Amino acid sequence: TTATAVTVIGLGPMGRAMAGAYLDQGYEVTLWNRTPSRAAELVRRGAFLAASPSEAVAANELVVLSLTDYDAFYGVLGAVDPAVLAGKVLVNLSSDTPLRAREAAAWVAERGAVQLTGGILTPPSGVGDPASSAFYSGPREVFEAHRGTLSVLTGTDYRGEDPGLAALFYQLNMVMFWTALSGYWQAIALADAHGITAGELQPYARSALDLDRFVDFYAPRVDAGHHGGDVDRLAMGLASAEHVLHTVTDAGVDGALPAAIVDLFRRGAEAGYGDGSSSSLVELLKKN
Ligand code: NDP
Repeated sequence: TTATAVTVIGLGPMGRAMAGAYLDQGYEVTLWNRTPSRAAELVRRGAFLAASPSEAVAANELVVLSLTDYDAFYGVLGAVDPAVLAGKVLVNLSSDTPLRAREAAAWVAERGAVQLTGGILTPPSGVGDPASSAFYSGPREVFEAHRGTLSVLTGTDYRGEDPGLAALFYQLNMVMFWTALSGYWQAIALADAHGITAGELQPYARSALDLDRFVDFYAPRVDAGHHGGDVDRLAMGLASAEHVLHTVTDAGVDGALPAAIVDLFRRGAEAGYGDGSSSSLVELLKKN
C-alpha cells in the first residue's frame, strides 16, 4: 500500500525520531505517549496527539510501537478494546527476546491483528537514513505491503515468517556488540593505568576491533566443521589469554572479563580442543 498515515506509540528518543521522520516525509502522524509532554515538539510540527492508546490505534491501520520492552507493550495495548485492535498491523520495535516476540505475536493474533516484529540497530540519529539497518519478521505479505512505510525509518532486512526472527537477529548482533565493546572498555582502563588516553589508543582500537578478515576466514570453516589447528591453536590462545589477564591484574585493573576468557579457553583445552583452532570453542559452547 501507499499508506501516508501512521500511528506512533512510544515517544522515547527512538519514537520521537521515528515520528519526526514520518513528518519529514509528509505523513499524517497520530501519536500517543504515557507522558504526553514528550509529544509537544511533534505536535507543533503537525502531528496529532491522541487522548488514549485506543484512539491512537483506531486512527490508522499501521501502528508503530517504540516502547522500552514488551511489558510496556502489554501495558499500553492491554487497555485497548480488542474490537479496536482487530485488523491492525502492529509494528513492534521494542527490544526483547525472541521468545517474548513470539508470545506477543500470538497475543496480537488472538485479537485479530498482526504483529510485525522489528529490531532496530541504529541510535535515534540514524532514524530516517536508508543506510541504517533494521530486522523485520512476521507474515511476508504484511511486511511487503508496508515495506515502503517502514523504509522511511531505516533500511529493512526481512528475516522470515517466524515472529521471533527479527528479535533473534537483533540479539545476535547484541551478543557480539556488548562483548566487543566490553573488550574496548577493558583496554581503555588498562591503557589509563599506564597514562595512555583513549585518544592515543583510538587508531589501534579501530584496527583491533575490525574483525572482518577473521569473520570471513572462519565462517566457511566453522560451517564445514573444520576446526583444524593449522592457523591458530587453542593452547596458544590460552597462553595469550593468561598474558592478557596478568597484564591487567599487574596494572591493578579489574580482571573479571579477561579471567572469564581464560576460564573459557581453559575449559576448551581441558575438553581436548587444545590442538585445534580456537574456533573449536564453538563446539564447547554448544554443549552447555
Ligand atoms: P525509552 O525507554 O527511552 O522510551 C520508551 C518509551 O516507552 C517511552 O515513550 C516511555 O513512555 C514508554 N514506556 C516505558 N514503559 C512504559 C509503560 N509501562 N507504559 C507505557 N509506556 C511506557 O526507549 P528508546 O526510545 O530509547 O528506545 C525504544 C526501543 O528501541 C527500546 O526497546 C530500545 O531497546 C530500542 N532501541 C533503542 C536505541 C537507542 O539508541 N535509544 C537503539 C536501538 C533500539 P514515557 O515517555 O511516558 O516514559
